[in-house]
Amino acid sequence: AAGITLDGVDKVYRGGVKAVSGVDLTIDPGEFMVLVGPSGCGKSTLLRMIAGLEEVTAGRVHIGDTDVTNKLPQQRDVAMVFQSYALYPRMSVRRNMEFGLRMRGTKAAERKARAAEVAETLGLAHLLERRPAALSGGQRQRVAMGRAIVRRPKVFLMDEPLSNLDAKLRVSMRAELSRLHQRLGVTTVYVTHDQIEAMTLGQRVAVLRDGVLQQCDTPANLFHKP
Ligand code: ADP
Ligand code: ADP
Repeated sequence: AAGITLDGVDKVYRGGVKAVSGVDLTIDPGEFMVLVGPSGCGKSTLLRMIAGLEEVTAGRVHIGDTDVTNKLPQQRDVAMVFQSYALYPRMSVRRNMEFGLRMRGTKAAERKARAAEVAETLGLAHLLERRPAALSGGQRQRVAMGRAIVRRPKVFLMDEPLSNLDAKLRVSMRAELSRLHQRLGVTTVYVTHDQIEAMTLGQRVAVLRDGVLQQCDTPANLFHKP
């Protein structure tokens, strides 16, 4: 696993909206970091700058020892999961999960083994030959996660991945995400506006407001400090 370092990161969108201001943040290798704050505070923008989907206006982004500030998403070895699942509707679960590996030229036997392993971890082993339309919302979101992690990225980024699910499923998926993280040990950055989700999932929680990092600490310390 590789850590992530943000040094003085700013984002000003065309039109002048200052979405992120002077963020300094170090995420340790293998850590589960949650970015939390109200809608519009810049969480997604910050995550997208780590992914390389959005350029920084100022500052530097490092993944491990590499300065990735000017690198494209595909050069960063990150995987990202969004709120909407964006699965390929005509492909089976297995094909969806293997897709990224296929693009990278991974051999069929290896693709199959890795997809099977990830499917097992996510409780999808019995659903591998189904199409997305024949899955529940929670199962689809698991496939989206499986598709992201099957490549064994250095960094796993999630933007409100549970917010399309009903409340009960969200709670059970939290536990599942924690287990998945323990098992993979991949550096994870997770965006949510839900404080309880943040406190439950995060080893540390970074609180953003109006594009500024307010505090970053363990849930216990954040909870007990005034
Ligand atoms: P959050 O994820 O916390 O809801 P965002 O990062 O999506 O916050 O947005 C932060 C601010 O940047 C908001 O004011 C939002 O309107 C603005 N913003 C987001 N994306 C764009 C964009 N592509 N162009 C212009 N402004 C944007
Ligand atoms: P498998 O994963 O079962 O070993 P292959 O990867 O050998 O299958 O793919 C078999 C063929 O099916 C290839 O020519 C591939 O381009 C094609 N293919 C892949 N995905 C789809 C899809 N969703 N629908 C139709 N054909 C596909």
